[in-house]
Amino acid sequence: MGILLFVLLILLLVIFYRTHIFQNKSRDFVRTKKEKIDPERAIANLSAAIGFRTISGKNPEAFKGLISFLEKTYPLVHKELKREVINEHSLLYHWPGKNQSEKPALLMAHSDVVPVEEDTEKGWTHHPFSGKRADGFVWGRGAMDNKNNLIAQLEAVEDLLASSFKPARDIFLAYGHDEEVRGKEGALAIAQLLQERGIDLYFVLDEGGGIMEGIIKGLSNPAALVGTAEKGFVNLELTARSGGGHSASPPAITGLGRIARAVVKLEKNQMQPRISKPVREMLDHIGPEMSPGKRLVIANLWLFRPLFIRKFSAFPGGNALLRTTVAPTMAEGSKASNVLPDSPSVTINFRLLPGDSVEDLLDHVKRTIADNEIEIEVLNAYEPSLVSDGRGEEFQFLRERILEAFPGATVAPYLVFGGTDARYFEPVCSQIFRFSPMQIKDTELKRVHAVDERISEENIERMVSFYKGLLEKI
Ligand SMILES: [Zn+2]
Repeated sequence: MGILLFVLLILLLVIFYRTHIFQNKSRDFVRTKKEKIDPERAIANLSAAIGFRTISGKNPEAFKGLISFLEKTYPLVHKELKREVINEHSLLYHWPGKNQSEKPALLMAHSDVVPVEEDTEKGWTHHPFSGKRADGFVWGRGAMDNKNNLIAQLEAVEDLLASSFKPARDIFLAYGHDEEVRGKEGALAIAQLLQERGIDLYFVLDEGGGIMEGIIKGLSNPAALVGTAEKGFVNLELTARSGGGHSASPPAITGLGRIARAVVKLEKNQMQPRISKPVREMLDHIGPEMSPGKRLVIANLWLFRPLFIRKFSAFPGGNALLRTTVAPTMAEGSKASNVLPDSPSVTINFRLLPGDSVEDLLDHVKRTIADNEIEIEVLNAYEPSLVSDGRGEEFQFLRERILEAFPGATVAPYLVFGGTDARYFEPVCSQIFRFSPMQIKDTELKRVHAVDERISEENIERMVSFYKGLLEKI
């Protein structure tokens, strides 16, 4: 009994000691830095840029229009920087810096937007391509994804050029025109061009995370989540070649029944949850800032890992950080209620956790379904990205610039669920970060790719300020 009490006491001591020393080690003092910028100009220019209906794969004239709008609006950028047009609509700018021996940095954005579904157009408060300025916001498709980054970066560069500023290292600006349809003509082509030229980049900064308010429960201050990796992507089609027939005399197991069973098995037996490197680093940064109970658990994952995984994976956002997810999205049967489908099928979308490969997933799916009558076809797939260093010098540099523009935020590495153009740059850069410098609540985030996308004027000002500060110190 005495020994048991003693062991318990030691255990408690270890738990509390670890909680006590669990501090945000990188929490040094960074002074707020207000850049002198012209927010009115930036707001008006973003509003005008939204007016070009640059829907991916459509309206070539709109892309051309946007390009000449940028030429007119940013004369210094087009005078001082070398610009290349790639595959007609993508842009690569090169700004030579003072020190040629330093590695160049690359800032990215994309000029294309997702379409506005016809039946949703009426639901918009202001026309999606009006770029309307109202109630302290600029409204329209692309306001948050991703003309905000495009315009804010060019505003910052134009401003700096006006005061004859020259960056310490070379800067590239890359603007793809097909990010929403996988970026092969835009970002991939640009990345290949840089690779051919033997360029090795200091870091790449693309969209992805942001400064999230109220998204992480138990964290009171805003979290600046900087994506240090993104998940992989696999679409599988499962088909049962069952042969049709009349529904009045069905076989014991129908084709559609087989498909349904396979889906149930895959949802019930998912790949193992795991705390991957980007999530581990995220917890190291935000854990110390959380409420006492959560802080104690995260400081003692050596003991509470199973509890943490169970609790964290109970909601979809947490689950997506911890495992390869399974989402059946499309299904096909027959066209009539009394006809058995000839080859019923389902499409399942998986998002791969770093560390799980496409091959691992296929093995898992075959083993789990264990049904030779079901054909499995990979429709499209890519592996999870490499993981950038959440403790390295490049991350620290970004962290300080974020704190200058957004004081009081908790800056943390993060795993991006969706796909970005940034992964194409892996052959020319090992430190790729995914972060848009804007402060957003999840209610605003839901407007991306949806109705009433908009951005606050305050955010536009902060974005320009952030990019200006970043370029000054780079
Ligand atoms: Zn985007």
